[in-house]
Amino acid sequence: MIAKKRIAKCATTCLLLISFALTLVGCYTEMDRPAYLPIPDVEPLATEEPKPTKRVALTFDDGPQHYKDQTKGIVDELEKYGYHATFFVVGDRVAGGDSVAYAIEKGNEIGIHGYTHEVYYDSCSEDDFRYELNMTEQEIRKQVPGYKINLMRPIGGKISADRVQTCPYSVIMWSVDSDDWNSSNRYYAGITDEECEIRVNRIVDNIMNSLKNGDIILMHDIYESTYDATKLLLKRLHEEGYDVVTVSELLGDNLKKGRIYYSETT
Ligand SMILES: [Zn+2]
Repeated sequence: MIAKKRIAKCATTCLLLISFALTLVGCYTEMDRPAYLPIPDVEPLATEEPKPTKRVALTFDDGPQHYKDQTKGIVDELEKYGYHATFFVVGDRVAGGDSVAYAIEKGNEIGIHGYTHEVYYDSCSEDDFRYELNMTEQEIRKQVPGYKINLMRPIGGKISADRVQTCPYSVIMWSVDSDDWNSSNRYYAGITDEECEIRVNRIVDNIMNSLKNGDIILMHDIYESTYDATKLLLKRLHEEGYDVVTVSELLGDNLKKGRIYYSETT
């Protein structure tokens, strides 16, 4: 009993001493604290790369190219840099694989080119025009149900002014031509490695020599040379501080149906 009392007394004494000590500390800090605490003049650490100040839209026509999963390969290359592109697809090539679904899943954009790639919209009948658009739209939606399509690029870049106005999509042309179709499918058929490299560099130079902020670049994902050129192009664009976005991202709120666009500002 006596031992218990002693322990209780000891504990009470300890608590009193602690609270006295805390009061003293409080008085000291109240007395000695300056009227304001100076904010240290320290620069924040740069944890992110500076944001690119130039933006362009990269577009690929005539695909998807399922052979060697080439369209998917281009999508993978874009993903390495956090870039996105717009693919204007040919309807009767869509069903050959799942490239369209893959491109959309990775944040890229799909637009309509045509169903057969044999009908020019400056001279065809209205029925043929609608057939080309509707059939391509159906093929895209078979792969990604409910996908919202905003853009159309006419075959060969040919379309009459009337058709632009009645088109249910925005009509997208280009301001920079890679001329990649000139290297074509004969790329790997018996030509030397040196010639391959020359062709790839020529495609990239065609673009970089005139590229500026707001441009829309034309390429074709059906050619093997385009796949190799894309890899080099993306590296160059990244080094030169470009962001690569979809056409809808580049044009933003300016995008309207029944209008034609060549770049962000034209
Ligand atoms: Zn085409």
